[in-house]
Amino acid sequence: MQVEDDDKQGGEDDESGAVARRGLVLVISSPSGAGKTTIARGLLASEPDLSLSVSCTTRPKRAGEVDGRDYHFVDRDRFAEMVEADAFLEHAAVHDHRYATPRAPVERILDAGQDVLLDIDWQGAVQVREAIAQDVVSVFVLPPSLAELERRLFSRAADAETVIRRRLKNALQEIPHWEDYDYVVVNRVAEAALAEVRSILHAERLRRRRQVGLPDFVGKLLG
Ligand code: 5GP
Repeated sequence: MQVEDDDKQGGEDDESGAVARRGLVLVISSPSGAGKTTIARGLLASEPDLSLSVSCTTRPKRAGEVDGRDYHFVDRDRFAEMVEADAFLEHAAVHDHRYATPRAPVERILDAGQDVLLDIDWQGAVQVREAIAQDVVSVFVLPPSLAELERRLFSRAADAETVIRRRLKNALQEIPHWEDYDYVVVNRVAEAALAEVRSILHAERLRRRRQVGLPDFVGKLLG
């Protein structure tokens, strides 16, 4: 049995005999300090078929950050030009700066049957879901308590106290958006939260509609 061309976006079965699948977009959001970045890094280290979408931002580069790896750092004019050119899947203002997900790399990765991780805020998550609902799996990471969130933000020491205070205030505005997500993970222990998000990814890869090679596979199975 042949699959329709339109359904073949994950490509043919590879040599391992794996069923061809379309990739998914894993969106992870949380207030800063809830451990989202640690989870994202852990996932990327252990999942060869998952790559990180590198966002564009107008915020200044922090110490240790690398242009093109952590973000594409652009000025406000360039950002506006890219919005105008429809180059972004979503864009939003977060903590007084603008952030956006470039559209083309995400589409390329999905079409290749691979997965892409978006570490974006709730405003971006809403837009991505509207743009490509079928391809999106969204996870919201909550801290176990506000006291723990504050402790984590201060122990990170990457930001000045005024910045941390603002992030805490923003956290109170971000947390109520948990209801917009497919999954919610409370990050008490980083390894456990990572394992939970990994389970979500693995299960979602097996969704029937994502396994576009199934008609072909079952056709061969039944001879
Ligand atoms: P930071 O400046 O600390 O790297 O990120 C601040 C916030 O911006 C984080 O919550 C992060 O998830 C969010 N963010 C980063 N990139 C994007 C993006 O491309 N789009 C949206 N909507 N939010 C983003």
